[in-house]
Amino acid sequence: MMTTDSFVMPFSEGSADQKSLLGGKGANLAEMTRIGLPVPPGFIVTTDACRRYMAEGGSPAGLFDQVDAALADLEAQVGRKLGDPESPLLLSVRSGAVFSMPGMMDTVLNLGAMPSTADGLAKLGDEWFAQDATRRFLEMFGRVVLGVDAEGFDHNVEQANEAAGVASERDLTVEQLAEVVAKHRQTIADAGKELPEDPRDQLRLAIEAVFRSWNGDRAKAYRRIENIPDDLGTAVNVQMMVFGNLGDRSATGVAFTRDPATGEKVHYGDFLIGAQGEDVVAGTRAVEHIDTMGETFPHAKEELEETLDTLEQHYHDMCDVEFTIENDKLWMLQTRVGKRSAAAALRMAVEMVDEGLIDEVEALKRVTTKQLEAMLHPRFGPNAPEPITTGLAASPGAAVGKVVLTSQEAKERGNAGESVVLVRPETSPEDLEGMVASVGMLTARGGLVSHAAVVARGLGKPAVCGANELKIDAKAGTVTVNGTVIHADDIISIDGTTGQVVIGEVELEIPEDDPNVAKLLTYADKQRRLHVWANADTPEDARRALAAGAEGIGLCRTEHQFLGDRLPLIRQMILSKTEEEERAALEPLEAQQKEDFEAVLEVMDGKTVVIRLLDPPLHEFLPDPLELRLKEASEGLDADEQKLLEAAEFYHEHNPMLGVRGIRLGILRPNVYAAQVRAIIGAAVARKQAGGDPRPEIMLPLTATSQELAWGIKLIHDTAKQVIEESGVEVAYTTATMIETPRAALRARELAPQVDAFSFGTNDLTQLTFGFSRDDVEASYIPAALEQELLPVDPFRSLDPAGVGRLVEMAVTEGREVKPDLVTGICGEHGGDPDSIHLCHRVGMNHVSCSASRIEVARLAAAHAAMEVSGPGSTA
Ligand code: ADP
Ligand code: MG
Ligand code: MG
Repeated sequence: MMTTDSFVMPFSEGSADQKSLLGGKGANLAEMTRIGLPVPPGFIVTTDACRRYMAEGGSPAGLFDQVDAALADLEAQVGRKLGDPESPLLLSVRSGAVFSMPGMMDTVLNLGAMPSTADGLAKLGDEWFAQDATRRFLEMFGRVVLGVDAEGFDHNVEQANEAAGVASERDLTVEQLAEVVAKHRQTIADAGKELPEDPRDQLRLAIEAVFRSWNGDRAKAYRRIENIPDDLGTAVNVQMMVFGNLGDRSATGVAFTRDPATGEKVHYGDFLIGAQGEDVVAGTRAVEHIDTMGETFPHAKEELEETLDTLEQHYHDMCDVEFTIENDKLWMLQTRVGKRSAAAALRMAVEMVDEGLIDEVEALKRVTTKQLEAMLHPRFGPNAPEPITTGLAASPGAAVGKVVLTSQEAKERGNAGESVVLVRPETSPEDLEGMVASVGMLTARGGLVSHAAVVARGLGKPAVCGANELKIDAKAGTVTVNGTVIHADDIISIDGTTGQVVIGEVELEIPEDDPNVAKLLTYADKQRRLHVWANADTPEDARRALAAGAEGIGLCRTEHQFLGDRLPLIRQMILSKTEEEERAALEPLEAQQKEDFEAVLEVMDGKTVVIRLLDPPLHEFLPDPLELRLKEASEGLDADEQKLLEAAEFYHEHNPMLGVRGIRLGILRPNVYAAQVRAIIGAAVARKQAGGDPRPEIMLPLTATSQELAWGIKLIHDTAKQVIEESGVEVAYTTATMIETPRAALRARELAPQVDAFSFGTNDLTQLTFGFSRDDVEASYIPAALEQELLPVDPFRSLDPAGVGRLVEMAVTEGREVKPDLVTGICGEHGGDPDSIHLCHRVGMNHVSCSASRIEVARLAAAHAAMEVSGPGSTA
């Protein structure tokens, strides 16, 4: 017995939950059909068929029999036939992947419009329409299916326009259009391609061309950036054409159920009278806002408004749609959950909770950490100069960079680390990589739903679009704005939140507190298990962190306390020859540090403040010996300088990262650590006396052995005991060690019983686990390794789960085995990285500690981790 695979499904039989089989577009067309919205009938060739096509190198057996059968049903339903000279049915053949890949794959419209069907088509509209449809069909079929260069067709149209003395092909006569059609056929023949005369053959070829477009360069590049798997394949939607180009009673447009730039709950969109399909998004003709649609199309407007509301209630989310009005009748051609700016994502998520459309957990899923970050992005400061021009605020955020006029150059220079602003008349999918590499985009044409705007919002990059006063001359390397000439390489500033364009560098401003951010983060706080602490060295840092929601300080570094006007004191301490001299130098330092700690403990009253004892190698406080040697050779050195030179040479290290630093320094100069402990406990005593609730935790850096740790802990306890006894004030403190050498992680069982907490210093742990000296590899090796896919991610940006992450997990687990109430956290840059935060959650840490500016992002990422919503870069 033979089994036949099923490769075709009519719209009327599918639904939205069949996206992996029907593709996103097909599943949603089916869903709209199911809930009774006006969708032109059609059927879907499934992703199964495409995958089989890719695997077998050709269409699977039975596919086209099923297509023919589905087509026959469609013809019966609409009462017109493909290729019928009297009453022709025209088809659109549209790609539709599981994840939306706007504009990345191919579509053929007006299939079946041929000279042989022109008379029949003329009855639908008029002769002009018949010729126009045929012209459009030949262009799309020629380009997409037969692979004929678009230039030839463009040339035919331009020539005809010129000869007729008109600006656009819309003003050509029927005869002139018919001539263009004839020329198009010639262009195809000249390219050595054969145009099948039978529309059924055309349909087959078009379906296979859509299959192949899945593996086109543009589509592949898009998938790489969006993290979409390559093996999903695309579905093909075959649908009856409806005509927005039938004259003044017809139109085509795109709309959103809410404003995709701001998130405001208003219908939003553009339409064009007497136009078809891509005319709207191409940005080549001025579009009208749907607010004014009621004047021309009162009924269709009303139905569109209702449809938009229905869709939003049905999908519980903001949707975008493509629609066409054919002789006053509204048709829906596409819907999907719409792309949105970061600001819109946030506002809609919060407002939809208030409206009862979604719950808080769903709202959290709707805002990525990248989008939240974009909300915290800079804008033009108040002192920004007058803009040279203002375009559409297409994607929020401000950017400053050098003007670059081609995507190729933007790609090269942007990837090399330069800040470039890509300035283009408009963009197309070919520009994608250049856009990714730019800090911002500026286009002269196109609306808020133009390619540039949509892509920029998706990438979270600032964009100003449709700045139509710009005259861009890429060849000359200039952009002219009302008589002012900007040259390639000049610096400009753009603000995608306001649409402003300024010549030169504008000082950017960090945005104010957004109530929607605060609200979303209260939802996040209810979901997350990880606490979010901050790295803060000063009372000002601590205040900022507290305002951002920090629940403790996970790392208060003390090295800055030795710099500035205190540098001479620490140098004196380093230079001291006897204990006495050393003590004398340390005394004033200790007093000053006590004040510093008091201030931080006061800001963080009632919350843990983890203070790390001195970590960097001593030579960092000394001058460069080479410079002193040079001075010695030229002007000579005074006695003090001579001493400094000796010390600088004495403390010079071949590899300071692996040298005398951290607890090793403490062991060689115990008085330094003892002075710091006295300062910390002394500060706590003072805070306690002032009625405060100080909670200092004293942390030892760079421990590698349990003996070292035991030495350090003894020093802490002995010293603290003395201070407490002297003061007669009972203060509590806790202790911690950093886990930043692989050995410390390996010996967690021995370290854990000695301390209250582990704090993972994952920067050093990454350096030492990989054997990377960060400063040396970050500029050269890491980019190369990333490029050659030898590293999945930069391990200094995102914690390496396979290696460093394993050490971390092991240390947490084994530490807890011997000390169940061991507190574990991460400090350092990874603590603010969403993927790393997911890892910290998974291994069961208590907290992450990050810089004050990352606290909000960390709170959201911690919630996502608890909800098991995948981290950034995922397509979920
Ligand atoms: P994309 O993925 O680029 O949006 P689509 O498959 O949605 O491609 O189609 C491209 C354009 O053609 C869109 O503007 C769409 O509205 C229009 N179009 C698609 N199908 C039809 C149809 N059946 N009738 C009229 N216009 C259509
Ligand atoms: Mg398209
Ligand atoms: Mg579309």
